[in-house]
Amino acid sequence: MKKKEFVSAVKKLATDAGLRHISCRFRAGDTWVGVYSGIFVVMNLDSVRLHLELTSPGQETATDSPSQDVQDEGDVPERCKTEDEFDAFRRVEAAGLPGDWFEQNLGEPWGFQLIIDDKRRRVLALEALNGVLECIAKDLHDLGADESQSCCQCERQATTLGYFETMSEGPLIAPYCNGCWEETQQATQGVIRTGEPNNLLRGWIFLVIATVVFAAIWGCSQYPEFGVPFHLLFIGCAGAGIAMAIATTWFAQGSNLVLRLAVAAGVMAATLAGNIMGVKFLVEAQGLVISWPRIILAYFVEYFPTHVGQELLFLSCGVVGVLIGFFLMRESERIRLR
Ligand SMILES: [Zn+2]
Repeated sequence: MKKKEFVSAVKKLATDAGLRHISCRFRAGDTWVGVYSGIFVVMNLDSVRLHLELTSPGQETATDSPSQDVQDEGDVPERCKTEDEFDAFRRVEAAGLPGDWFEQNLGEPWGFQLIIDDKRRRVLALEALNGVLECIAKDLHDLGADESQSCCQCERQATTLGYFETMSEGPLIAPYCNGCWEETQQATQGVIRTGEPNNLLRGWIFLVIATVVFAAIWGCSQYPEFGVPFHLLFIGCAGAGIAMAIATTWFAQGSNLVLRLAVAAGVMAATLAGNIMGVKFLVEAQGLVISWPRIILAYFVEYFPTHVGQELLFLSCGVVGVLIGFFLMRESERIRLR
């Protein structure tokens, strides 16, 4: 199948199945989501491939209990084996889509993925995608999948898939009826703010240690004999801001405004302290010995005014890093509804 035909076949597939087109922040190309005959569908088409994710939550409960019974009786088969499941994609294969293109998700017994890259697309027949979701759904129903799902809010039949973008856990999905999903979107205005950091103390401790360590590394990297190129120093300064923001968020298990401002202050203070260390090294390289209080005074009174451009450039790299870090930390506090 040619690329153009493939793209229009995918779009037709989405329209025919009543999937909802959504815009994702962390995914390139087009994404559609929906509940088709009880199967959760997330479909992404970018410039290099089609990625179809299928989940059938009903099957988990449908097959878990019988398999336990079997195990209780001392019999071996733990569950449907992967090959059996792939064998079961009979209708899909008859429609012209090889069953072994479906991959089972690790740790998710009833989640499947289908990836059609350029190489696979070229060998596909023109009609291979026609009604393919119906075939997949019927094959999964044969395996025990539920033919409908309930809305997670009102228990009526789910007609769409709520798609939640989180930075820490990736995308999350939940079945909704159209009415409840619209209500949820309106009530939240598309964004849910998550709670305060779970472990603020750990975040603070990390931030203090990281600030001291960064100041030391930053100062030492300016030691004249190391000869670290200037552009690397700038990149390092920006990178440190981003890294400190992400790591602090990770240690604190979340972030809030005070913590974000503290990270900004930490990066700026460490950059400044490192710069002062750098000047001390420069002076000492000329054979002079000078105390810390005097070098700090000398930095602000003599060195800074005569090297404004260079010093501001360093600080501005810190600012860029902090701004990116700010954005990432702020995003980690938000779940976006798509
Ligand atoms: Zn509902």
